[in-house]
Amino acid sequence: MQPQRYWREIPRRYRLEAGKCRKCGKVFMPPRLICDACRCTEFDMVRLSDKGKVHTYTVIRIAPSGFGEQVPFVLALVDLEGGVRLTMQVADCGPEDVKIGSPVKVEFRKINEVGKSGVICYGYKAVLA
Ligand SMILES: [Zn+2]
Repeated sequence: MQPQRYWREIPRRYRLEAGKCRKCGKVFMPPRLICDACRCTEFDMVRLSDKGKVHTYTVIRIAPSGFGEQVPFVLALVDLEGGVRLTMQVADCGPEDVKIGSPVKVEFRKINEVGKSGVICYGYKAVLA
């Protein structure tokens, strides 16, 4: 993702804001314009819980550019309280520390640096709770 897009999305990412369909109640993160369940186009902004559990995970040992200094790291599908599943890195631990079902807390963190200018991109990561 480009740094400009990261910066535009920081307020939403920082607050873990999602869109909740006014008709059927399905929650989308990131928010969408049209609900894929009922085609409704009206949403309320809701704040997601920062608590969740690891649904499943994988260990990244060969990282894409910009993430090479972080390997090995855990990339997990995290089920937040409230029913939203997000993909995020599990930080501050080794691959052996993460298990399916591990309780985690979502934090706003530095994701990586882009390019020679070192533009820093931020987003959410999970840490073991
Ligand atoms: Zn809907």
